[in-house]
Amino acid sequence: MIRFEHVTKRYADGTTAVDDLSFEVAEGELVTLVGPSGCGKTTTMKMVNRLIEPTEGRILLAGEDISAIDPVQLRRRIGYVIQQVGLFPHRTVLDNTATVPALLGVPRARARARAAELLDLVGLDPKTYGSRYPEQLSGGQRQRVGVARALAADPPVLLMDEPFGAVDPVVREHLQNEFLRLQSQVRKTVLLVTHDLEEAVRLGDRIAVYGQGTIEQFDTPARVLGAPATPYVADFVGADRGLKRLSVTAVDASALEDVPVLRTDEATPSAPAPTSAAPTSAAPTSTAPASDAPWSVVLDADGRVQGWVAAEEPGRTRPAPEPVPLGASLREALAALLQHDTGWLPVVDPAEGGRYAGVLTPAAVHRALRAASPEPDAGRAESTAVTEQPSKSLSPR
Ligand code: ADP
Ligand code: MG
Repeated sequence: MIRFEHVTKRYADGTTAVDDLSFEVAEGELVTLVGPSGCGKTTTMKMVNRLIEPTEGRILLAGEDISAIDPVQLRRRIGYVIQQVGLFPHRTVLDNTATVPALLGVPRARARARAAELLDLVGLDPKTYGSRYPEQLSGGQRQRVGVARALAADPPVLLMDEPFGAVDPVVREHLQNEFLRLQSQVRKTVLLVTHDLEEAVRLGDRIAVYGQGTIEQFDTPARVLGAPATPYVADFVGADRGLKRLSVTAVDASALEDVPVLRTDEATPSAPAPTSAAPTSAAPTSTAPASDAPWSVVLDADGRVQGWVAAEEPGRTRPAPEPVPLGASLREALAALLQHDTGWLPVVDPAEGGRYAGVLTPAAVHRALRAASPEPDAGRAESTAVTEQPSKSLSPR
């Protein structure tokens, strides 16, 4: 959808901001450009909507050389979101959102109706917020208006330059999640600039890690973190990349522990639960561990998790922690693991209607992480089996 071919930008003072850059962003893909300040991210982005002209090379949009497209026409196809948002202070939120369609000659009533829909889409109730002025909003809310406004002309491409940079970390994470949800619905081709690696990892289907005006690695988050292509990238992603990998590595069936399983349908009926039962105990079953394992998972006839029983108290089925689905990130799984004192979590397979798939323990998390991305010096990148979450988005392409 967006293709850079040997693009170089030298400014008049001789600064080479972007040096012989070639890469491609697929339709519906979200690519994050990440790197330190001054490495050429904004220059890259502004060349796409011709706010800056390249010195050499060319950029194609859906196969068309953009230097042949009138800049005004071009910008109608490309939404642009910047950190400073740039809302008009004297216009209401609704009118700000409707700016572009109104400029394009869409009748006012229709432009405003569409703007109201978009505000709703970004999580701002148009009835509450539509008539407010930008100064009456929080930073995070202003940012949402900026996104709604960029989407108003329904452009196939979105350029976002540090869009969530001006808000505090908690609001930022919230906006990032909202944006991923939104992207799964609108499925734009997105180029998003950030200096924040966490943000790049969380949002990007792929990440372009910038050096000085060049891309050092263009790859999926799991591979950038798990197998940095150069010492520069390894340094940039930092010593704690193992932790960051937790969020891009999925819970995989091969990492799970096999523990003994008991089926309630195989059980013989038992006496009703005594009324003095501890509040945490479920109705007892007569399931009893078959082996000498210290505990077993209890499943119903459909393979759904009912709880667990300890070997020393076979008559009492205890409630199991909330299961994690296969495909969830190790980060989510570890967070859930830390919330329970069981020391394990049942894992279920969403593709099998939520059937039990195995048990996740801290040791299994460790194994999954190591299996997903061995250290780069443990073998060549090609030979590593990388387990990745299929896409940031919630629905299939
Ligand atoms: P980033 O967005 O990654 O922080 P920029 O693309 O804004 O980086 O800038 C890349 C380099 O180009 C920096 O060294 C910056 O100082 C320089 N630069 C940016 N704009 C201009 C300009 N108009 N004239 C000269 N140099 C510029
Ligand atoms: Mg910049």
